[in-house]
Amino acid sequence: MSATLKLARNDQGEPEIFRSIQGEGRAIGRPRTFVRLSGCNLHCVWCDTAYTWNWNGTPFAHERGVKFDPSAEMVKIDVADAAAQILALPSEGVVITGGEPTLQADALIALIDVLRARAPDLLIEFETNGSIAPSGALCERVDLFMVSPKLAHSGNDASVALNERALSVFAQLPSAYFKFVAKTSTDIETAAAIAKRFGVPAGRVYIMPEGTTPEALDARGPGLIDATLAYGFSYSDRLHIHLFGQKRGV
Ligand code: SF4
Repeated sequence: MSATLKLARNDQGEPEIFRSIQGEGRAIGRPRTFVRLSGCNLHCVWCDTAYTWNWNGTPFAHERGVKFDPSAEMVKIDVADAAAQILALPSEGVVITGGEPTLQADALIALIDVLRARAPDLLIEFETNGSIAPSGALCERVDLFMVSPKLAHSGNDASVALNERALSVFAQLPSAYFKFVAKTSTDIETAAAIAKRFGVPAGRVYIMPEGTTPEALDARGPGLIDATLAYGFSYSDRLHIHLFGQKRGV
């Protein structure tokens, strides 16, 4: 029996599978096909994809105060169907994002195997909040993990968001790069402490401003550069926000 994935929906109600340029992190600017999973184990107050988890009747706080109906926002799709939709949008790589993709790791392994069988050179990239340890089977299939541990300003309990075992596993993976969302230079100090504790070299750490509008990113970004440089980290903007604003499927 084929595995099933729970995906987010785009504005037309279709599975959120789309081609664009990567707006963040190590592959910023590169052409990618994105697959957005529904469901998340964290509840960031500034999350820009709250339609993947902030369901009606749940107690989670969010800056926008908007709740969503899972029956309207989530669609179940067979792995073979998802693979066909992804391969119909050719690019050099696929970004599996969310939500939190590791919640559906087994089905994603099946998806990756189908994709690789048809497109052996396809890059497989994975965006995760880093709070769930990946299996060896997943690690060996993924070319790039962008791991984004959530700091205190996200509103999550650190005991959940900063899972020691999961971060240790990712830290030891050469394919894992870390991307910390920062509001202030103090957040960069926290990121540096986490990187040091888990032995992540500075060359695998990115700092990205928190913001869901071009104005917010422009206002926050310059104040983060001195501390980013001081620690030898890289800086990532959010190109898709500048290009398209906060929209689905772009
Ligand atoms: S971990 Fe990511 S998807 Fe989940 S709530 Fe936070 S920002 Fe949103």
